[in-house]
Amino acid sequence: MPSENLFSDGLYPKAIMTRHTLTVLGSTGSIGVSTLDVVARHPEKFKIFALAGHTQTVKLAEQCAAFCPEYAVVADAVHAAELERLLAAKNCQTEVLYGAQALIDIASADAVDGVMCAVVGAAGLPSALAAAQKGKTIYLANKETLVVSGALFMETAAANGARVLPVDSEHNAVFQVLPQGFQRGRLNDYGIDSIVLTASGGPFLDTDLASFDGITPAQAVKHPNWSMGRKISVDSATMMNKGLELIEAHWLFGCPPERLETVIHPQSVIHSMVRYRDGSVLAQMGNPDMRTPIAYCLGLPERIESGVCALDFGKLSALTFREPDFNRFPCLKLAYDAMHAGGSAPCVLNAANEEAVAAFLDGKIRYTDIARVVAHCLEQGFSDGLNDVESLLILDKETREAARQRIAKAV
Ligand code: NAD
Ligand code: MG
Repeated sequence: MPSENLFSDGLYPKAIMTRHTLTVLGSTGSIGVSTLDVVARHPEKFKIFALAGHTQTVKLAEQCAAFCPEYAVVADAVHAAELERLLAAKNCQTEVLYGAQALIDIASADAVDGVMCAVVGAAGLPSALAAAQKGKTIYLANKETLVVSGALFMETAAANGARVLPVDSEHNAVFQVLPQGFQRGRLNDYGIDSIVLTASGGPFLDTDLASFDGITPAQAVKHPNWSMGRKISVDSATMMNKGLELIEAHWLFGCPPERLETVIHPQSVIHSMVRYRDGSVLAQMGNPDMRTPIAYCLGLPERIESGVCALDFGKLSALTFREPDFNRFPCLKLAYDAMHAGGSAPCVLNAANEEAVAAFLDGKIRYTDIARVVAHCLEQGFSDGLNDVESLLILDKETREAARQRIAKAV
């Protein structure tokens, strides 16, 4: 029987009796590197089966030398040849594969227990879905998977007994403070009023709005609290990231949009909260370091060392909160609207945003054009009830084309 209960004791191993075999998709990125940092602290618990690093062959070769995976996956034949040369020089036996199908293969191989999904963007969807189809434990960092195909992904995971563990810090925080045995969508049964996602507000929280047109990529990727990949850093600056995370929380926890809140908390110490009917608000706190949520997911049901420093209350001057302002963060409003619209609107939102952020990082459009490009694509319309991967990927492609046309006009 498919189970909707992703969080019950029954679905967790009582303890990790054997070494867990892992595939890390996006191992050369910010989350991938943090994952391998945690893994390296527990060689008795984890074994790496495969790593995927797209085009970052030098970093991937170093990781292969350190973790000796059976397979390493890159984007194409050119990068595969380059990686093979680097591995030969290190006398490393790892077999090199390439292409999108190879990513799916290492996510769904029989030998694999758990898959860290840390590719950036909708490119991470097919491999995450393949892991769900094979009933793997999925450590989900790639929020775009849930934004593009939330219903399909969660249904596939439930139907195949896959456990979806949230790596994203806010969702991991919520996961940690939900009651034991929580079942998706049953907020009332557990006395839950709402889920509150915290947001740092990014680097432009207090910047004069009149200067927004001149914001450069270097300024936008410089996050005040977190060290992350470039795309998610820009998303944090526009607060599109929080919008994507609202949609992510909607699918992960089965929480209706009207019971999802977001609040700006510039210190990034409280990572998110759950409000209960009796007036209690439970929060998870810690230093802003992704190794904490990664270690929580990898270690379950144990708490394992992550390498993260203890939170020093003596150094915390204040924890402050404020409401997000849609004038400053129009992308957050667009994401709210897409979540409420439902259907394939979040898929359109995501594809348009990926194209707009890439164009901004390439110097093709201004910072303020990101929201304009996304709004333009959402105005083109979207359909209801697309729930197969082929249709979603076609819509993703069509939206990217519409976004590129709008980007060309913005220059
Ligand atoms: P990153 O840019 O640092 O790394 C992305 C990884 O994906 C790299 O290994 C890269 O080689 C690989 N990659 C890029 N394009 C690819 C493609 N088309 N096909 C296959 N692989 C590809 O990104 P990141 O910051 O580590 O973020 C990864 C995911 O985790 C994103 O979905 C992001 O939203 C999510 N996330 C990140 C953080 C964080 O702190 N960095 C926090 C929460 C969630
Ligand atoms: Mg997050």
